[in-house]
Amino acid sequence: MLDRARGCSVGAAVGDALGMPLEFGPRSPPGAFVREMTAGRLPAGTFTDDTELALALAESLLANRPLDPADLANRFVAWYRASPSDVGLQIAAVLSDIISGSTWKDAARIAYRNRPNSAGNGSVMRCWPVALADWDDLGELVADSRVQSMVTHWHPECVAASAFVNVLIYHLLRGASAVEAVDKAAHAVEMPEPLAVTIKAASNRHRKELMNTGWVRHTLESAIWGLLTTDSFEEAVVQVVNLGNDTDTAGAVVGALAGAAYGLNAIPLRWQEAVQGEWPVGSRARCTVVELARVADRLLSRG
Ligand SMILES: [Mg+2]
Repeated sequence: MLDRARGCSVGAAVGDALGMPLEFGPRSPPGAFVREMTAGRLPAGTFTDDTELALALAESLLANRPLDPADLANRFVAWYRASPSDVGLQIAAVLSDIISGSTWKDAARIAYRNRPNSAGNGSVMRCWPVALADWDDLGELVADSRVQSMVTHWHPECVAASAFVNVLIYHLLRGASAVEAVDKAAHAVEMPEPLAVTIKAASNRHRKELMNTGWVRHTLESAIWGLLTTDSFEEAVVQVVNLGNDTDTAGAVVGALAGAAYGLNAIPLRWQEAVQGEWPVGSRARCTVVELARVADRLLSRG
């Protein structure tokens, strides 16, 4: 279980970093898939906002049990003030509103009211630390997963997707097969019908049908497809980051899932050695595979 938990934290960052240079690009043609960490707008191997916000969530979970949304919002604001290289639109809207004096709840609700049809992947991309922190309490895991989404993404599909991904990781950590874990999570988590339909159909999709946009439905579809149609960490992540479009976020989600399924030892060493970022943003401290694995250890031993 420890190896799987480390696989989850390292895998998410690896998928994020592998997808980073491909973000908003086209689908890779067959035979020309990217399999190595390459430079993009950031140096090769660098993780992005997806992992940074997950690390902020991890630190909040280590400081408070159950998760305290006000503390989490403060940590997100501190990250935002440090001028990270990447900030999603929805997250920028909510965090600047908090900086102007709104409570997190008002800010998140107003953002949802202003764009009620926006259901982006910004809360599901960072949700995995809850699955590690609450590994021993499924009820709390679902509650914390929902709250961590609501801090920036109030839309019911974002909230449900976050709970679904973490219940799925919960079962993977316990050794369930990927098919079994997806099935259990889909039955256990209450969710809007269109999201449930997307999840159910994901493994039967053809690569060409996957849009992989920033819509939470598309991200989940890509990640579940990647998990269920491959049989290794490497292949799951390679298939998903080569779909084009929102590659780093879909990469982070499938990386967390496949990492929890196969464990840290299944993550190619060349990727483990390359993955890194600055955490906290602005501190000049390097966060590498060692620190990422330690985050998993600390979250697991929290209880
Ligand atoms: Mg990103």
